[in-house]
Amino acid sequence: MIKKFIRKILGVKSARPSNEPVVLGAKDHGIDPRMVSNNAIRVTSTLQEAGYEAFVVGGAVRDLLLGVKPKDFDVATNATPEQVKRLFRRAFIIGRRFQIVHVMFGQDLLEVTTFRGTATDNAPKDEHGRVLRDNTFGSQAEDAERRDFTINAMYYNPATQEVLDYHGGIEDIRAKTLRIIGQPEARYREDPVRMLRVVRFAAKLKFSIERSTAEPIGVMAPLIDNVPAARVFDEMLKLLTSGQALACLQQLRKEGLHHGLLPMLDVVLEQPMGTKFVTLALDSTDKRVMAGKTVSPGFLFASLLWHQVLEKWQAYQAAGEFPIPALHLAADEVLESQTEKLAIQRKIGSDMRDIWAMQPRFERRNGKNPYKLLEHLRFRAGYDFLLLRCASGEIERELGDWWTAFYEADESMRAELVSSASSGAGKKKKPAARRGRAAASDEVPADAHADADEGDESDDDEFLNPPPEGEAPARKRRRRPRRGRRSGGGNAPAGEA
Ligand code: ATP
Ligand code: MG
Repeated sequence: MIKKFIRKILGVKSARPSNEPVVLGAKDHGIDPRMVSNNAIRVTSTLQEAGYEAFVVGGAVRDLLLGVKPKDFDVATNATPEQVKRLFRRAFIIGRRFQIVHVMFGQDLLEVTTFRGTATDNAPKDEHGRVLRDNTFGSQAEDAERRDFTINAMYYNPATQEVLDYHGGIEDIRAKTLRIIGQPEARYREDPVRMLRVVRFAAKLKFSIERSTAEPIGVMAPLIDNVPAARVFDEMLKLLTSGQALACLQQLRKEGLHHGLLPMLDVVLEQPMGTKFVTLALDSTDKRVMAGKTVSPGFLFASLLWHQVLEKWQAYQAAGEFPIPALHLAADEVLESQTEKLAIQRKIGSDMRDIWAMQPRFERRNGKNPYKLLEHLRFRAGYDFLLLRCASGEIERELGDWWTAFYEADESMRAELVSSASSGAGKKKKPAARRGRAAASDEVPADAHADADEGDESDDDEFLNPPPEGEAPARKRRRRPRRGRRSGGGNAPAGEA
C-alpha cells in the first residue's frame, strides 16, 4: 500500500524518479475541498465504490494547490475505458488510438483517463523522435512519469483528501518552479508541444522555468515544425485565451519560440504598428478572460494577422486592384499562408474574413450603407475591430467616434449623422495610415472580442459584389493582378506583398 511520508522529507530533491509517492494529508496541502467540483467527486466516488482507484489529476490538482478554482477536472483511474463507461449513464469512449472516456453531467464534461504507461523505446516515432503512439495502460507511477511537469503530475483523492506526489510537485508549487519530468531533451523530442506548454504555464502562473527545463528550448524549437498543425493551433488558442496572452507572447519571444514557429508572430511582433495593435487586442482579450467573459477565436486571430493583411491589401491596391477585392485577395493569401503551420478551423477562418471584410464598409457612411452594415450578423465584432484600429493609430479616431455615435443613436439622430457624414466632415476617407497620419489613443473598445458567434451566415457576397454606389465605375475599370483569384494562394503582386 501507499506509504505515508512525514512532511519533513519534503525537502528531498524534486523530480527524482519515484515509484512511491509522497502522500500529503489535508492539513499539509491546504486544498479547500469546496473548490472541488461535485461532478468530479461523483465520478471518483462512483469508480471507488465499484472497487477501482480514482483521482482528480493534472491541472486541476495544480490549481487547487494554488488556491485557484480549476476550469475543468480530469480524473485518472485504473479502470479501463469499458469499465468506466459501464458505470455512468452518459459516458462516451473517445479516441481511437488512446481511448479516454467523456462523462457528461448536463453541460459539464469530465475526462476520465486510464493510467497510461510510459513511452517505451520501441514506441513508433517520426524521423525526429516524436512519439506517434504510446497507447498502453500502466500503473499510477508510470502515469505520473509520462506527464509533462512535476506540478501537473499529482493526484488528489477527494474521499481521503490526500494528495499523491510522485515527482516533487508540491515543492515546485511552493517554489513557483516549472520543472519537466525526466530528461528535458528527450521529453521535448517525444513531444515538442511541451515547449509551448512550459511557456504558457510560466506566463499564466507567473512561475520561473528551472534551468535545465529551459535550456534546450532555444535549440529544439524548430522541432515544433513537425507537429501536426491542428495541435499547434489548439495549443496556441489555449495560450492566447489563458488570460495572460501578452505575457505568454513575451515569454515565447524570450525563449526564442516565436521565430519560424508561428509565421504570424514573426511578422506581427517585429513591426511597431503591428505590435501596438496586437498589444491592445491581447490586453483586452486578457481582461475579458479575467472577467470570465467569452473570447471569440475569430476576433483574436483576425487581430493577430491584421497587419499582415493590411500590408498585402495596400500592395494589391498599389498594383491597381480596387479596395474591396484587394482586401479579399489579401485575406485569402494570409489565411492560406497560415494554414501550413496553423490549421485555422474553417469556422474561425470565416469569422476572421467577415471581420476584415467589414472594415472598408465602415468608411462608407452615406445613404443606406451604414444601416445595412448595422444589420450585419457580426457587426459588433467588426465595430470592435474598427475601434481597435482607431486606438492603435492606424486610422483616424473620428471614424470610430462617428460609428459609436451612430450605433448608440435613435432614428432621427442617425439620419442627422448620415447627412452630416455625406455632406462633408465624415465623407469617405482614406485610412490615416496610408496618408502617414496617426490618431493616437490607447482606448480599447469595451467589448472587443465579444464572441461573435451568432450564426454561420455572412454577408460575404455583398463584400465581393458591393452595391453599385461609389463602386460601379471602379468595377468597370477593374484590373486584376496576375493570377488574382479569390480562392487562390500566393498571388500577391511580385515584390510588393
Ligand atoms: P489547463 O489548466 O490549461 O487545462 P492542464 O495542466 O490541465 O492545464 P491539459 O492540457 O488539460 O493541461 O492536460 C491535462 C494533464 O495532462 C496535464 O496536467 C498533464 O499532466 C498531462 N499532459 C497534457 N499534455 C501533455 C503533454 N504534452 N505531455 C505530457 N503530459 C501532458
Ligand atoms: Mg486541463
